[in-house]
Amino acid sequence: MNDRIKTNLKEDILWLKCSNCKEFIFKRIFEENLKVCPICGFHYRIGAYERIEMTFDDGIRGFKSLFEDIVSKDILGFTTSEPYSLTLEKNREKSGVKEAVIVGTGKVKGYEIAAIIFDFNFMGGSMGFGVGERIIRIFNYASQKKLPVFAFIASGGARMQEGMVSLYQMPRTIIAVEKFKEETRLPYVSIFLNPTTGGVLASFAYLADYIAAEPNALIGFAGPRVIEKTIGRKLPERFQRSEFLLEKGLIDKIVRRNEIRDFVSWWCRS
Ligand SMILES: [Zn+2]
Repeated sequence: MNDRIKTNLKEDILWLKCSNCKEFIFKRIFEENLKVCPICGFHYRIGAYERIEMTFDDGIRGFKSLFEDIVSKDILGFTTSEPYSLTLEKNREKSGVKEAVIVGTGKVKGYEIAAIIFDFNFMGGSMGFGVGERIIRIFNYASQKKLPVFAFIASGGARMQEGMVSLYQMPRTIIAVEKFKEETRLPYVSIFLNPTTGGVLASFAYLADYIAAEPNALIGFAGPRVIEKTIGRKLPERFQRSEFLLEKGLIDKIVRRNEIRDFVSWWCRS
């Protein structure tokens, strides 16, 4: 799950070596610190269920997952090195989730919210039919139940294996957000995680009333190599990282993982 963290081979039960600062950290402290390096503050990638566990009152037990039967299928009969249907099966097994996003409701510090939580471990959090449809349903559900929506984004963008079906999830989710905004006067807040890119960023994610990001998250439509090639210039250091985007006014706030519960409940109070 954490490809960027290496275990110390001698004492792999107790210690981890931070891939960012190279310091050894006590595994228990790392877990207690919500998988953030206690020395350098590097935020390691976590799965959707881990996110739910650390965000909601009573963790996973306090979260009601909705629309679980909605998943992507191989409607195009798409095959590269393997059939897409097999890729889906393998990803379900590897990640422990049935789709690249989990949607549902739960309480944060006593306030009921609707939530969208991406899992990057499932096909890079890519958006195909299953993801788009779940997002649309949760916005409609939030509208009916009068709940604010919080979206935790971690995505590589559109799911190429679904071709046009994947791309049309962009306008569909945009319409769902606009409908939610028209029908309620409740907040829709996005929290960009590492990474937030491509068609997900360029559709419903960026339409939030307020956009926060975890520290050092990669945020952008196309990757830096593509941009450098296109414009023929070297990009500034830290380009497309949360801190750079905040400085340029493209996001509103950086929120550390241990501040997320306070951040969410603040929005529900106001
Ligand atoms: Zn570190």
